[in-house]
Amino acid sequence: MFFRQIFHEASSTYTYILADSTWRDAVVIDAVADHSDPILQVLHDEDLQLTHILETHLHADHISAARQLREQTGAKVVLSELAQADCADLTVVDGDFLVLGDDVIRVLSTPGHTPESLSFRWYDRVFTGDALLIGGCGRTDFQGGDAETLYESITTKLFTLPEETLVYPGHDYRGRWVSCVGEEMRNNPRLAGKSREEFVAIMAALDLPKPKMMEVAVPANRLCGTLNGI
Ligand code: FE
Repeated sequence: MFFRQIFHEASSTYTYILADSTWRDAVVIDAVADHSDPILQVLHDEDLQLTHILETHLHADHISAARQLREQTGAKVVLSELAQADCADLTVVDGDFLVLGDDVIRVLSTPGHTPESLSFRWYDRVFTGDALLIGGCGRTDFQGGDAETLYESITTKLFTLPEETLVYPGHDYRGRWVSCVGEEMRNNPRLAGKSREEFVAIMAALDLPKPKMMEVAVPANRLCGTLNGI
């Protein structure tokens, strides 16, 4: 297996490249437009063929590289059916899987941050997008977010995975790269020992500013991002 985690500093976003070492097939999760060249470079250097471009959800804080990468590689853009984004080449729902070499990437529907949010499970790890972050979770106060739904997704879909499952989030703002399910169950301050009502109250009290790029990023990402950032 080949695995690479890339950090986009301006939006604190993580992008992941997953590949099968035998077949040389690769997928990318949550690629950021500014990083399409470095991603293409990794694919070239490692002799990998990009087959799918996965989005955990329609991002509000950065523009996706999906359209650019599709132009360059012919890979298929994959989004949740609930994203209702016509640009997607393939839409998925909970329980679907994508073949990657000798193994599969399992699709988990984990709504709450947004209705279309997905997590992807591969080998010993899960890519949670903004559903579950290290010591936190995605906000639920715009883009159709709902705290009760997010609590349900985290507790019934993510916290039921084996405790040692590695958690690779969509963002981190404090330099942390990876966690695991057991660690989040025990130490995530929004969730550890918290009832649904307590979680909803915590989320309602966050009072966060709107993301700076939201007005631009969400419409652009409905089109799978833009070509050349235009
Ligand atoms: Fe998000």
